[in-house]
Parts: sequence; structure tokens; C-alpha cells
Amino acid sequence: MSIHVDAFCENPLEKEKRIALTFDDGPHLVTPQILAILEKYNVKATFFCIGKNIETYPEILKQINERGHLIGNHSFSHSHFFDFYRKKRVIRELHATDEIIKKNIGKKPLFFRPPYGVTNPSIGRALKITNHNVIGWNIRSMDGIVKNEKMILNRIFKRVSPGSIILLHDTSLVTVSVLEQLLLFLQNNNYKVVSVDKLLNLNAYEE
Ligand SMILES: [Zn+2]
Repeated sequence: MSIHVDAFCENPLEKEKRIALTFDDGPHLVTPQILAILEKYNVKATFFCIGKNIETYPEILKQINERGHLIGNHSFSHSHFFDFYRKKRVIRELHATDEIIKKNIGKKPLFFRPPYGVTNPSIGRALKITNHNVIGWNIRSMDGIVKNEKMILNRIFKRVSPGSIILLHDTSLVTVSVLEQLLLFLQNNNYKVVSVDKLLNLNAYEE
């Protein structure tokens, strides 16, 4: 039996110029700066948070939620070996992260983004138990790797289209400095930024 993992990487049926911004790997000390810029442009985003970082910065997680952004599960350890884990261990990681999110914001997330975007049969089997929807992206900003702001922005500007999901990181000061230019570009090109649940018509949290 093959275990195929369906990931939502965009909304290919999107007719209007709506896109979603996603921020991975927080909560982090940089996150509040990202939140301030999003607030200035009245934009709601989606944050895929790491369980162990929530342990360190629970107040920042709460801030993300209180400002009206969505929170998704991005594993507990974000281990480089995550895609070698067997089903049981993947389930444990996902449950532990759901739990710490629920403890802090009172809601259990239904969105999961695998560390490094990698899926495999073990993760697929685990997701059949945990029932998370996998949210990918179709535009990788490279903000965690490339330091040249112009290059990061040009990558996004060239690729953005209705229904896009853009991957960013709320752990990098480079992201803080490109975000405002990105939001201005989107505004000037009549793109509306919405959260992932709205773009994909899926529930972000357990009812
Ligand atoms: Zn990550």
C-alpha cells in the first residue's frame, strides 16, 4: 500500500488576487517585529510554530494568536532527523506540539507543516492518526539562506500569482527588513493577503 501525503501548496483555483504569507520556525525574539509590520499593513498571516520554541517563548505565541494570526504545528523538535522517525515518534511530536499550543491559546491546530517540508510514508501514516492537513508552499523566499534582500524580493515578485502560499521565517532579521517592501509590492499589485484557512477553505483549528 502506498501512503501518499497530500500537501496543500497553493490554491490553484483561486480567481481573485488572494495569497497567503506563512512564517516558520518561531516563536522567536524576532517574531514581535514581524507582528508589528503585519499590523501596520493590517495583514493576517499564518505561523508554523515549533513546540520547543513555544516552551521558551509562550508569551510570543500568545501574542501571535491575540493579534489575529493563525498558528500551525511545525513539529516539536524540528530535528534534522525528523524524516527518519517512525510513525510513533512522529505522532508523539505532533501531539506534544498540539498540546503546548492548546495549553497557551486554547485551540488545537489542524494545520501541520513538516520540518524542511519533507514528507514520507512514516509521516503519512502518522497523519492518518493525527488528522492534520499538510500545508506546503509554492514560493520559497530563501530568507533563511540568502542575505541579499533584493534577491529575496525578486524571487517572490517573479513567482507570485493568485492562490500562492509564500514561505518566510520569523527568525531572521533579513525577513524583517524585506517584509515591508513585500507588503507594499503586494498592495501596489492589488494582491490581498489572507490567512491559509481562508485561501484554502479549511479549518485551522479543531471545532
Ligand atoms: Zn522549519
